[in-house]
Amino acid sequence: MTSGNTGIGMTSQRTRMRMVERLRAQGIRDESVLAVMGEVPRHIFVDEALASRAYEDISLPLGFGQTISSPHTVARMTELARGATAFEKVLEIGTGCGYQTVVLSRLARQVYSMERIAALIRKARKHLREAGSTNVHLRHGDGHAGMPELAPFDAIVMTAAAIQVPAALLGQICVGGRMVLPLEKRGEQQLCVIERTEKGYVERRMDQVKFVPLVPGVG
Ligand code: SAH
Repeated sequence: MTSGNTGIGMTSQRTRMRMVERLRAQGIRDESVLAVMGEVPRHIFVDEALASRAYEDISLPLGFGQTISSPHTVARMTELARGATAFEKVLEIGTGCGYQTVVLSRLARQVYSMERIAALIRKARKHLREAGSTNVHLRHGDGHAGMPELAPFDAIVMTAAAIQVPAALLGQICVGGRMVLPLEKRGEQQLCVIERTEKGYVERRMDQVKFVPLVPGVG
């Protein structure tokens, strides 16, 4: 590693540690999630011009009208998803730049992620390579359908807001598993956790959030 790289690495590592402390202060309790977020270089997922803002608790534009979720939102969704009985096989809907994907990939055995915009799949693939993730499978497609041939999943994380939970996805959660997603009602979005039990589905409403909408079809 050149001294220049070391310099950047050191700075971003310190900045990441401050981000982790902020997440802790904001109520994130899952130490594994905090550890992973302290490791993953979030600045490589955003455009160079925005890299210096990568560790602030804000969502940032990632092109094509989409946004990378704020660190707190990523941490919160991951923490909630990890409440599933197991966390081996995870499906993500809305790959975007791939940051949430990489965080999930360091906590699960296999991560499958779907994105409707082809150019974002290409971007995410590059970021995953740079982050050294080898247990992620990306698919260009409409997340409404999920991946029935690979179901069931221990957890499904959806990072775009839906008016209602896509029915196909509910069927792809295993018993003891859960889905975390933003649901929109009367113009307001709330993070929602749906647990699948032996008896059926149990829905819990959590924090208010702001996500881009889930859009049908591929772009
Ligand atoms: N987790 C991502 C969030 C990106 S924003 C990140 O932090 O970078 C949400 C993403 O969902 C966008 O990239 C958008 O293109 C994608 N999306 C919206 N509707 C979709 C659909 N039906 N299927 C798959 N991806 C979808």
